[in-house]
Amino acid sequence: MKISDSIPHSWAEPWKIKAVEHISLISQEERVEALTEAGWNTFLLRSQDVYIDLLTDSGTAAMSDVQWAAMMTGDEAYAGSKDYYYLEQTVQEYYGFKHLIPTHQGRGAEHLLSQCMIRPGQYVPGNMYFTTTKFHQTYAGGTFVDIITDEAFDPQSDFPFKGNVDLAKLQKLVDEHGAESIAYVSLETNVNMAGGQPVSMENIKALSEYCRSKKIAVMLDATRAVENAYFIKIREKGYEDKSIPEILLEICSYTDGCTMSGKKDCLVNIGGFLAINDDLLAEKARGLVVCFEGLHTYGGMAGRDMNAMAVGIQESVEYDYIRARVEQTRYLAQRIVDFGVPVVRPFGGHAVYLDIKQILPHVPQDHFPAQRFAGELYLEGGIRAMERGAVSAGRDGEGKNIFPELELVRLTLPRRVYTQSHLDVVSECVARVCARAKEMRGLRMIFEPQELRFFQARFEPQEG
Ligand SMILES: *Cc1c(COP(=O)(O)O)cnc(C)c1O
Repeated sequence: MKISDSIPHSWAEPWKIKAVEHISLISQEERVEALTEAGWNTFLLRSQDVYIDLLTDSGTAAMSDVQWAAMMTGDEAYAGSKDYYYLEQTVQEYYGFKHLIPTHQGRGAEHLLSQCMIRPGQYVPGNMYFTTTKFHQTYAGGTFVDIITDEAFDPQSDFPFKGNVDLAKLQKLVDEHGAESIAYVSLETNVNMAGGQPVSMENIKALSEYCRSKKIAVMLDATRAVENAYFIKIREKGYEDKSIPEILLEICSYTDGCTMSGKKDCLVNIGGFLAINDDLLAEKARGLVVCFEGLHTYGGMAGRDMNAMAVGIQESVEYDYIRARVEQTRYLAQRIVDFGVPVVRPFGGHAVYLDIKQILPHVPQDHFPAQRFAGELYLEGGIRAMERGAVSAGRDGEGKNIFPELELVRLTLPRRVYTQSHLDVVSECVARVCARAKEMRGLRMIFEPQELRFFQARFEPQEG
């Protein structure tokens, strides 16, 4: 009997568990109480009341034993810590940029970049907005313009690079207003708000050629560039045999600098950086970092944090690691799809996005259907997810609610934290909530903060 051809080659996590943290599911009555207390906002839940936490992959990674060892050998000097130089050298080696300005996290770097590069009245085109990125662009007097490809707005399109920039949209903006009205192009890799969708190397290259011809800088949001590099390796012709570090360096080579949330790809719980090639810009950013973050050789991080991040960067580009990371996301997505639940396609790198417009078509968008669904998922199984729809989109310049094309619930996978059994439980809970979708109604917003409202807004069920 020859069965060897039909035996699958499964991947397994390239790590084993050395320390564990206990979790448990509180009772249904306690969950109702907790969600009511949190105003139906999963950001306002206490994590002790959560069983499986898929709120975000930000700062929630499990560090390796080598990273924990690096924590112990941190150099806590105020100025010139050895860990700063180690991090600088690591960022230069893997991301290829000349100057490193450490910050407390990604938005710290976005703040510095926006203040240094945007003059009031300028445009900042980008491939879909990200909440904190857009906030800092607007805060600096800029206007964000979305230039992502149209495929990104169709959750059922199987286009492999839905993060791509639509160059025609950029050209139109430049032709109308002139190149000097563009502060820079903000290029995100593995676009978060589009569902964790990658940009192709071909697209990055074409964007870079166009921008260089017009003397417009391209600034990378490198938060998930490693995940994007993995997608390029498995999806783009000519990259099959390239290593993840080679692809990552090539992506960066077409840009002029990057902001980074170390809490994502870099496998640490806190930290970030701005990395740029231009000497004058670096000098300007160093002038600001000391005002807003900390000295330019720590920028809001402890020495041990910088040390752990340098190790995390090296671990993040290992093929076995990044494959397990992205394939675990695919595993969860496939389980959910097998229950007949619509999700954004193709499956993203860091999260599974439930297509709530299809799941709750009878709930109008001004009743915040995705926010409701996220609450129901918590009630069902203590699972914490996040709304990525009308609440996250906020209001426009005239104060009107923005109703985005995509009304999604995001199940985000922390790095190296959960096993496949946790994901089985999650997929079953999602299916059970969907089974009672017909009876579900929306929410009423009863408290709305002015900025980034999704973090602290409060709601009540429509049924009173
Ligand atoms: C998380 C994130 C940021 C902001 O980083 P923080 O570390 O949370 O401040 C910026 N861009 C993208 C794409 C992100 O996912």
